[in-house]
Amino acid sequence: MTQQLNAIDNTGFKQFGFSEGVMQGLEAIGFENPTPIQTQIIPHVMAGNDVVGCAQTGTGKTAAYLLPILHRIIEKPVEGINTIIIAPTRELAVQIAQQLEGFSYFLGISSLAVYGGTDGIEWEQQRKALTQGVDVVVATPGKLISFLNMDIVPVQNLQHLVLDEADRMLDMGFVDDIMRIISYLPETRRTLLFSATMPVRIRELTKRILKNPVEVNIAMSKPAEGILQIAYLAYDKQKTKLLAGLIKGRDLPSVLIFASTKIKVKAIAKELKAEGFEVADIHSDLEQSERENVLLRFRNRQLQMLVATDVLSRGIDIENISLVVNYDVPRDAEDYVHRVGRTARAEQTGIAITFINQEEQQQFSRIERLIGYEIRKQMPPEVLGDGPEYDPAVNKPKQRGRPGQKKGRRK
Ligand code: AMP
Repeated sequence: MTQQLNAIDNTGFKQFGFSEGVMQGLEAIGFENPTPIQTQIIPHVMAGNDVVGCAQTGTGKTAAYLLPILHRIIEKPVEGINTIIIAPTRELAVQIAQQLEGFSYFLGISSLAVYGGTDGIEWEQQRKALTQGVDVVVATPGKLISFLNMDIVPVQNLQHLVLDEADRMLDMGFVDDIMRIISYLPETRRTLLFSATMPVRIRELTKRILKNPVEVNIAMSKPAEGILQIAYLAYDKQKTKLLAGLIKGRDLPSVLIFASTKIKVKAIAKELKAEGFEVADIHSDLEQSERENVLLRFRNRQLQMLVATDVLSRGIDIENISLVVNYDVPRDAEDYVHRVGRTARAEQTGIAITFINQEEQQQFSRIERLIGYEIRKQMPPEVLGDGPEYDPAVNKPKQRGRPGQKKGRRK
């Protein structure tokens, strides 16, 4: 089911019975109507139910849990930490913390972001703040555990635990960390789990740590309708030149490029730099401060292009990206939707281009099956020579690609 942000809903946010301060926060941030996931999730969180939300970034899931939690914190303050939100990456943690700060401006609710890689002074400040008990902590798993192990964090009255991007956390091997964190938390808490996908492992985790959860499913397996999706059939050696040619001379102030490996990411950034573009790369080899700096420059439009590994494709909210490029076809078909979802957020239009080499054609046809339609495929311009013919069935004995793609199509 395709769900778009900002579905028209005249009752707006009033329907939820939020306290005055939360409504003021909403006004300040400029949200007028709830998104579908907000409409479905907020009443359950307000009612104090455990919730499993199958939803990806771009649906408004962050506000879907933050708003009712903030309301409940005001209604029923507790001694010590009220809410812990766990995110798989620092970038997502920072982003959640920023939304939280925006909403809680009028509420006098304290929050703290706790994630790895910070220096000694910051560590001491975090330790102090945690010991004193802030209302909401947003954390990555490893860093939170190191504080919980010290037995200084007042979690005995914890009301809410939120696990955001739970599938990604499992992918990154955080399951033991999560269980360890939970072992410190009171049974009386509410648990909210969000995940873009619902594989068996997530269902099992849900059974272990949630109580009679309400399940809400807003999985978008289709990119938003405002996105123009194009694919180019290109050999690897053609891809960077093709990319440079597509961008040069066009009004594309913000281009996000995804590639499959760190090595590729670095090489592409280098090649694009040599072509004269303002470009940086981002991947796990960078220090946290470097990653944040790069993201900031990209957000501020000081950098036209950012080349990233998959770490960035989920969870990161950078608005108004003019073009998303899949330099490689994503291995996981859902990742395609995530990546393409970086553009055309909240009802804007955007462009997503995918480069498909010979080996990637089956993967691409899998993506087309997931989204339920074919994407127009083009050959590179004449000067670069023809790309590979499109025939996803060739290396795919079990399932044939969708009919309708002519071999060697030039337009
Ligand atoms: P999320 O899925 O939580 O990462 O949110 C995606 C983007 O949608 C963020 O930039 C939010 O600020 C924005 N957003 C969330 N809820 C709303 C809303 N009700 N109205 C307008 N924008 C929203």
